[in-house]
Amino acid sequence: MKDSLRKYVGNIDFIDLKVIDIIGRVRHVILPGDRLTDELFEEGVGFDASNFGYSSIENSDMIMLPDPDTAFEDPFFERKTLSFFCDVLRTEDRKPFEHYPRNVLRATLEKLKSIGAADAMLGPELEFHIFEGMSYRVSENQAYFKVDVAEGFWNSGEFSNANVVERKMGYHRCPPADAMANFRNEAVMIMNSIGIPVKYHHHEVSSAQHEIEFRFQNALNSADSIILARYILQNLASRYNLKVTFMPKPLFEEAGNGMHIHQYLVDGTGKNLFAGDIYCGLGEMALQYTSGILKHSLTGALLAFTNPSTNSYRRLVPGFEAPICAVFAKGNRSAAVRIPGYVKDKHKARIEFRTIDASCNPYYGIAAMLLAGVDGVKQKLDHKELGFGPIETNIYNMNDEYRNKIRFFPSSLEESLRGLKEDNEFLKPGFPDELIRQWILVKEEEARYVNSVPSPAEYQLYFDL
Ligand code: GLN
Ligand code: MG
Ligand code: MG
Ligand code: MG
Repeated sequence: MKDSLRKYVGNIDFIDLKVIDIIGRVRHVILPGDRLTDELFEEGVGFDASNFGYSSIENSDMIMLPDPDTAFEDPFFERKTLSFFCDVLRTEDRKPFEHYPRNVLRATLEKLKSIGAADAMLGPELEFHIFEGMSYRVSENQAYFKVDVAEGFWNSGEFSNANVVERKMGYHRCPPADAMANFRNEAVMIMNSIGIPVKYHHHEVSSAQHEIEFRFQNALNSADSIILARYILQNLASRYNLKVTFMPKPLFEEAGNGMHIHQYLVDGTGKNLFAGDIYCGLGEMALQYTSGILKHSLTGALLAFTNPSTNSYRRLVPGFEAPICAVFAKGNRSAAVRIPGYVKDKHKARIEFRTIDASCNPYYGIAAMLLAGVDGVKQKLDHKELGFGPIETNIYNMNDEYRNKIRFFPSSLEESLRGLKEDNEFLKPGFPDELIRQWILVKEEEARYVNSVPSPAEYQLYFDL
């Protein structure tokens, strides 16, 4: 056992072991505190993974092995509970289960070596909505959902619905319009206490929309932090009878929720490999990497992992600062990759991928994004030849002649999944073939389900024809 954990032996009531399923949901099992022994970290705990969505061809008896580096005291249990993220091993040979998200990301990081990189430094931005309630019904030919916007004044647990921010008017608003500032503060206090490094947080553009931005961490810690931050926000909300959603587009005609990721690659000494002087402080590697991301977004293959819900494509529409096409630009918020323009410091050279949203499994989304970038570097892709920009005008307002030159992203989950069937060679260093097949099956089923449910908009259009 790690030395830093010894102080907990005999001092905790429970151990919570958290594992991730295929779509990125956290599942857990609770062990009595007296199981905190060396053996736990050597042997792990057997479990049945058959309901986790991974391929059933795989033997579903697996072992979860707590990662001692992920230990934290979980504030959402009444009893003193030490929580761990787990790795998953196969029972037969105790080898890492290659489909398990953390292992896919680890295999991906190995591949970075082929272009001289040791890790990726990532700074994600988490956007989300807070609702007072959510109900839906999908039965007897009726589809119905209702959400109540939570913008009342929130203080010490008291909540009243006094202030609602007008449509599209919420960006960086102050209290009392920023009615959930105290809620976000409380969430960030918890994040800080368990080692999630927060940059800042604020109200976002849509009513009831918020953002928490994280400081840079390496790829694995960053993916773990995204999962934990979602867990913290959802659990804190539930204490106050509120609902947090990361759905990419919960409200019609309001801004959607992205999960932009600032990123750069580093070598073994931590040196920023993106720095250079070709464009906005970026060098060749950064630009080729960017082209790789844009190229595999266009085919749909990358989006199938970074934007893997039917709802993702309701966000990727003009007019809401969400990207719609394969271009990069300095400062331009309608571009899929933005180069933060104010970076003068060579250590801070970076790109921001804005397409990805939080309906992804963050480990898969990040792994696919890195592999698309690595492919761009290996193929020495040229952004000019590929027509990726840079473009500085607002893409939403472009005239037709200009627009004809740029290429648009797939507009549905099905289209992205079709792209993934054709374009997946670049993913192979991280994603086993069987996992890609299983992902397509799971996601095609989701798309079929959504398509088969009559929607509120269809009632509006067709009910009284
Ligand atoms: N909400 C926007 C998106 O969907 C981003 C808005 C912003 O961060 N300025 O990506
Ligand atoms: Mg931001
Ligand atoms: Mg934002
Ligand atoms: Mg951003």
